[in-house]
Amino acid sequence: MNYNKKTVKDVEVAGRKVLLRCDFNVPMAKDGSGVITDDKRVRAALPTIQYLLDQGAAVIACSHMGKPEPSFDKWVKKQTEKGKDPASLTQEKWSKTLAELSLKPVAARLGELLGREVIMAADVVGPDAQAKAAALQPGQVLLLENTRFEKGETKNDPELAKKMAGLAGEGGVYVSDAFGAVHRAHASTAGAAQFLPAVSGFLIQKELDFIGGALASPKRPLVAILGGSKVSSKIGVINNLLEIADTIIIGGGMAYTFSAAQGGKVGDSLLEADWMDYSKEMVQKAQDKGVKLLLPVDTVCADQFAPDAKTQVVKSGEIPDGWQGLDIGPETVKLYCQAVAGAGTVIWNGPMGVFEFPAFAVGTQAVAEALSKTNAVTIIGGGDSAAAVQQLGYADKMTHISTGGGASLEFMEGKELPGVACLLDQ
Ligand code: ADP
Ligand code: MG
Repeated sequence: MNYNKKTVKDVEVAGRKVLLRCDFNVPMAKDGSGVITDDKRVRAALPTIQYLLDQGAAVIACSHMGKPEPSFDKWVKKQTEKGKDPASLTQEKWSKTLAELSLKPVAARLGELLGREVIMAADVVGPDAQAKAAALQPGQVLLLENTRFEKGETKNDPELAKKMAGLAGEGGVYVSDAFGAVHRAHASTAGAAQFLPAVSGFLIQKELDFIGGALASPKRPLVAILGGSKVSSKIGVINNLLEIADTIIIGGGMAYTFSAAQGGKVGDSLLEADWMDYSKEMVQKAQDKGVKLLLPVDTVCADQFAPDAKTQVVKSGEIPDGWQGLDIGPETVKLYCQAVAGAGTVIWNGPMGVFEFPAFAVGTQAVAEALSKTNAVTIIGGGDSAAAVQQLGYADKMTHISTGGGASLEFMEGKELPGVACLLDQ
């Protein structure tokens, strides 16, 4: 995939209408009060929006939020499957579920942050959006309703994509800044780009520069740290990084499948028996390619999956029955920190242990600390990994923490991202 994409700086936007795909999929208070509990994503969109406004563009922003079901019949079917009484499934209730996923609160918050009015459309491509988009003047911001209120959004329906693009009218421009959604080929993330000159905003550009740069031409040695819960969810990442990394470090729950495959005792640790053969192949492949593959030499195990479990440190492959490994051990920490110290680039995906429990966050914390002290380019991808680094207080010590969990994973898997591929090459 070509990561070298045109950006907002490469097109003239003055006096033009810009259809801007943002990632406003923000967490909302569960009580339906419309309160945004974390506005990080709204704030992250500001540089691109501000730039476009400063340049004299009119901005038509759009985003999805949550997973509304835009068809009443399908909603009834899904709820019935979940065991709800069909008699209670009224149109009114369905409308309420949609209303709770309205982007109106985002328009209000965005307006506050920008210090100017954000006009809210009552629909996505309906009469209200069309009228408001047509009347939009340079320097003004219009926010469309949740793109997933349209049935064609997730199907990447070309008719819908054309209507979205049409809102920007003759001379319109498409800008994507929703990195968190670029791995999805939807009407607003990829389809609309077929009908307008399409470029990236600053958020996507940064992700492409850092993750793309680390994958395509890393400062070596490139050390990849892979952890998290399951091998099966990281196959693509392991496969791709085996092709480009100099060292691969394995931690987290997936390490026990590797250990079991080598004949180790893993007790009640997370184990994916179906992936034992695969993990053996990976060890072999690493050897054949001359990639250093590091596996834990010891582990912190617990007598139950709980924050206050009894713990003991044992050698890898020697976990007693009834115990489960929840973190890498102290010897492993030393080994991994040494490996990181001399790196030119570190790509990290997947925590080393169950960092949500402080007792088992030690390995993850130590690796984060080691990363914070290197001169290496440090890149964190994956939703939980980003959360761990933030929670442990190392966020501002990393070169780049990806804003897209699923998107960054697919990026590291070497997959083509539809929301990036659709943008104009440099
Ligand atoms: P990411 O979102 O960064 O890609 P994953 O979703 O793959 O990361 O994994 C994160 C989860 O892995 C965390 O919730 C963490 O508790 C869990 N995890 C890490 N180590 C273990 C372990 N030894 N046993 C069980 N779960 C683990
Ligand atoms: Mg995760």
